[in-house]
Amino acid sequence: MGECEKYKPLLMGLIDQELTPEEAVDVNQHLNRCAKCRADYESLRETSAKIGAVSFKEPGDEILETLWNPPYSHFTRLSGLAMVIAGWVGLILYILYEWIVKSSGNLLPRIGIAVMAFGFVILLCNAIRERMVKYKVDPYKEVVR
Ligand SMILES: [Zn+2]
Repeated sequence: MGECEKYKPLLMGLIDQELTPEEAVDVNQHLNRCAKCRADYESLRETSAKIGAVSFKEPGDEILETLWNPPYSHFTRLSGLAMVIAGWVGLILYILYEWIVKSSGNLLPRIGIAVMAFGFVILLCNAIRERMVKYKVDPYKEVVR
């Protein structure tokens, strides 16, 4: 029993890796022999893992929040996205216009490709719209604002 009392303060040190190698070996040997101290050690380790996870997670989230979710970032992101899409669609329309109207030859395959390009643009817009809807619905974002 006296032996267990001696090892008890060392259990926390073992979890925090604050023991000398000799002490760590000593404690480990006792843990191998003693089921009671092993149970103590397991519960201490669980508790300290929980505390560690909480204290690690909270400031981390806080920092991420201020870095990535300032009030204006939503608008900045959306307007940037809108400009990219508008530029891209405009360019495609221009190329298609040049290509279809100004070149000669068989029109049908070019119309087919033009329709496919439009279809792609529509799919892209739809995917973006869905993302924006999700963003708006996200309850956590509402709380932040
Ligand atoms: Zn013991």
